[in-house]
Amino acid sequence: MRIHRLFIDVPLASDTDLTLGPEAANYLGRALRARPGGKLLVFNGHGGEYHATITTLGRRDVSIRVGEFVDVARESPLDITLLQGLSRGERMDFVVQKATELGVTAIVPIDTEYAGVSLDKERREKRREHFRSIAIAAAQQCGRTSVASVAPITTLARAIADLPVDALRLVADTAPGDAWPADSTQKIFIAVGPEGGFADHERDTLAQHGFLRVNLGPRVLRTETAALTALTVLQSRYGDMTGDPAG
Ligand code: SAH
Repeated sequence: MRIHRLFIDVPLASDTDLTLGPEAANYLGRALRARPGGKLLVFNGHGGEYHATITTLGRRDVSIRVGEFVDVARESPLDITLLQGLSRGERMDFVVQKATELGVTAIVPIDTEYAGVSLDKERREKRREHFRSIAIAAAQQCGRTSVASVAPITTLARAIADLPVDALRLVADTAPGDAWPADSTQKIFIAVGPEGGFADHERDTLAQHGFLRVNLGPRVLRTETAALTALTVLQSRYGDMTGDPAG
């Protein structure tokens, strides 16, 4: 059986005991039906992962013995931030899950003119927490050793106000635009419009901020398809989807 992986947001060291709260107890006990003596892998986003063994498992807490460190590298060499136009429904959940699998570093959900979503502050914060839990579950499942960060839902203007000058800036655009650059910097920002696309003034704003318009072929892709395709193109052109068996 496949070994389960658990993200824990605390410092980790070999040969130490850790007690985790109800969330981990519930996940391991109920969702995974793990038992004391069960083996798992734990990681905290600071590189690599650790073997661990469940020592006690109750309803409210779980204790684990942290064992050997494994210095695995499954993170992309690219530092990609996805500026994703927020859409209604579950599209964004799908994007967060799959973008994590595709090695994105950060996701910034942006509220755009044609988003068709209006959320008060409390619901925005709830959605962000929900996205964060999806990113954690996806990282656990896909073998990543860090979890993609999810920024608070913001506006396009705020999202692009202070981008590092040395980063490559791209926007996925249905119209043929610029050629994909031959090389990339390590840090990349890629913007993808919501279901209704970016408004003209938003496309202008992105262009003024140095975003190159890159195209993903002659078909109009749904926003979630566009985001995942753009990430795949980036990993394959500049990142770790090289087909190189050494990896
Ligand atoms: N009616 C909208 C469609 C939006 S599709 C329009 O014409 O703009 C949602 C987003 O996905 C777009 O804003 C764009 O960022 C991206 N997208 C969809 N198809 C694409 C393609 N073929 N090439 C590049 N980006 C695409």
